[in-house]
Amino acid sequence: MARHSVTLIPGDGIGVETSAAMQQVVAASGAQIDWEVAEAGAACMDIHGTPLPDSTIEAVKRNKVAIKGPITTPVGTGFRSVNVALRKTLDLYVCLRPVISLPGAGGRYDDVDLVIVRENSEDLYAGIEFEEGSEGARRLIEFVDESGAGSIRPDSGISIKPISVTGTRRIVEYAFEYALKHGREKVTAVHKANIMKHSDGLFLRVAREVAEEYAGRVAFEAKIVDAFCMSLVMDPSQFDVVVFPNLYGDIASDLAAGLVGGLGIAPGANIGKDYAVFEAVHGSAPDIAGKDIANPTAEILSAAMMLDHLGELEAAARIRAAVARVYAEGRCLTGDIRRATGLGGEPARCSEFTAELVRVL
Ligand code: NAD
Repeated sequence: MARHSVTLIPGDGIGVETSAAMQQVVAASGAQIDWEVAEAGAACMDIHGTPLPDSTIEAVKRNKVAIKGPITTPVGTGFRSVNVALRKTLDLYVCLRPVISLPGAGGRYDDVDLVIVRENSEDLYAGIEFEEGSEGARRLIEFVDESGAGSIRPDSGISIKPISVTGTRRIVEYAFEYALKHGREKVTAVHKANIMKHSDGLFLRVAREVAEEYAGRVAFEAKIVDAFCMSLVMDPSQFDVVVFPNLYGDIASDLAAGLVGGLGIAPGANIGKDYAVFEAVHGSAPDIAGKDIANPTAEILSAAMMLDHLGELEAAARIRAAVARVYAEGRCLTGDIRRATGLGGEPARCSEFTAELVRVL
């Protein structure tokens, strides 16, 4: 088996525990990984003056593949999200999140098998914002008034929502190519084009153009985001590959994760032309950090996605089979899953669950 060098950004909060668990499981899977640990987050501020040091970016560029624990983004401060910065700097324009029923995980459905493809570089997450009362906000409000497009209250803060032809085309093409490669039959594009004609409207138009190029090979449908949410909750089995602009994709990822057992089991990846960074959907969960009670499954399944990406298909399959077995047996599951399933009894600690996975691998 080939050796691979992978950058590990352990993150903070529960990331410290889930990353350690993930490393143990990957080691037990037989995959030969040399971990190069790189730091990011609030702890880096004191040493490097930035939450995302250049050395961390360089480490990801060197290895081309990274796995990352969650990183806390303090609310309402000048601290910008490390996650957003990483995606931007490395142009990781695809956020890929498979949502698959895991028997024993307490999901509401046992037939969910869909893949969320979320655009990762633009939309309201572009980070172009004007603070209420700032000179930028004042000039923008003046411009909008003069343009005749509408009016904005003078005491508004403003976030800009850019959606481009280029950004839409590449994400929708990725969704179709993914469908072809993985034998999936349908791509659904989700939008709110009836209201936001020049951003979501563009997304829909370009999605339809791309769909034409795949006609006869992969089916296509478009759904308005609110109707999509209702359909997803009522019958998630009707969806296959679903492509979203950034914000709706972010929200739908957690919604879909909730249908199959929660954030504790939802893996993901951020993928670009040159680099890939794998990470769970969940955040740093400060409410449970440091207590050895977090569920590491999402990061472990993210590692399985990483192993697929590295061509280590057998090790990845072994990890998924071990996860499926431990959940099906139901003896050693963390508190989030015990609550979701309504199982009584003592929840397993993060470390106990990890040891059980390693045992059955
Ligand atoms: P969160 O995902 O951290 O937590 C939401 C809820 O789910 C909490 O009750 C938490 O205890 C629970 N939870 C999450 N993961 C779990 C796990 N593995 N096992 C058991 N329970 C789990 O979301 P939040 O509270 O909105 O965010 C906390 C911080 O994480 C914020 O600073 C946010 O910016 C950051 N965040 C980071 C990432 C990332 O690094 N990719 C993603 C999302 C949020």
